[in-house]
Amino acid sequence: MGYVAIRDVYKNYGEVQALKGIDIEIEDGEFVALVGPSGCGKTTLLRMIAGLEDITSGEIHIAGRIVNDLQPKARDIAMVFQNYALYPHMKVADNMSFSMQLAGASKSEIKTKVDEAARVLNLENYLDRYPRELSGGQRQRVAMGRAIVRNPKVFLFDEPLSNLDAKLRVSMRAEIKSLHHKLHTTAVYVTHDQIEAMTMADKIVVMSEGNIEQVGTPLELYDEPRNLFVAAFIGSPSMNLLDGVIHNGAVRIGNGPDLPLTSEIALEDGRDVVVGIRPDTFALTETGLPLTLNVTEPTGAETQVEGVIGPTKVTCLFRERVSDQPGTVLHVTPNGRLHFFDKTTGLRLGAARVAAKN
Ligand code: ATP
Repeated sequence: MGYVAIRDVYKNYGEVQALKGIDIEIEDGEFVALVGPSGCGKTTLLRMIAGLEDITSGEIHIAGRIVNDLQPKARDIAMVFQNYALYPHMKVADNMSFSMQLAGASKSEIKTKVDEAARVLNLENYLDRYPRELSGGQRQRVAMGRAIVRNPKVFLFDEPLSNLDAKLRVSMRAEIKSLHHKLHTTAVYVTHDQIEAMTMADKIVVMSEGNIEQVGTPLELYDEPRNLFVAAFIGSPSMNLLDGVIHNGAVRIGNGPDLPLTSEIALEDGRDVVVGIRPDTFALTETGLPLTLNVTEPTGAETQVEGVIGPTKVTCLFRERVSDQPGTVLHVTPNGRLHFFDKTTGLRLGAARVAAKN
């Protein structure tokens, strides 16, 4: 069983506190993504699970054992790195089976395992090639093959797709996901790309500055971000965050009109809030919030508009085609959920919609 538990883990590098008390429970067979901006501590955490980095305090459990003091090779994990880390002088088959050779596995056992991994990864026709004779995507598949033959309890992925071009990243993303469906091996996947995390993971851990901001399924994080950090980090383009004031069951944003709110949320009069509005939830309306256009980016199916509402920059995605003249003023009304956050703490207060006028 590949259950992983990270309990109250701290990591200090001298004065630098890289991890400040991390708690994560990962079920057997779960695919968990660690995401966050550069420097938030995700690689450090992954390397600590792998045993490549010491833990300052706390416990890491893998499959029911505390592994704090175990060597990487005794942890029953396999790691896939961003730079593939293949041996250039070895053919694909040898690259994949090297750990088995070291462990003294028999030739027939090695062949069975390598053939099986090559089949799963569509590498059957490449086993006799050297890494330099492969594309980036094929090399990354070999790196995964090497991890698969070890039949580990846990796969650890360290930004495995970041060296690939955009198109290949999308197809490899789907390959890793379907591989996970086939193997059901617990996986911890580090990425700074929230789209990658959203599309692949069962559960996402959002980190910033050595802390966990939120843990949840991709849609939990998208629909109910716990705070402004997660609200801004999850979703592309990002959620718009505008200052507002509550007034008589309505919210006033900038000098726009009062937007009456449905009763899911009851906030006191005069309360300052931050209102989160997803770019695709703005509708063009006759009246509403005045949006001054800066840049219009039509992609055919939809139009992305960068503009300002009052002093705040906003991004809107419309299904309609809109003017491309900078300075044009449109009127927009949110027709999806408005997310409310406390102006001081940044914590989520709840969500509501704009109520239909009587
Ligand atoms: P990135 O996406 O840029 O790889 P990350 O989230 O993986 O970032 P880490 O590499 O885990 O971040 O680094 C977390 C923090 O620990 C950073 O502030 C980093 O500067 C610091 N750090 C990492 N390794 C060391 C080290 N060997 N010595 C000192 N500080 C370190």
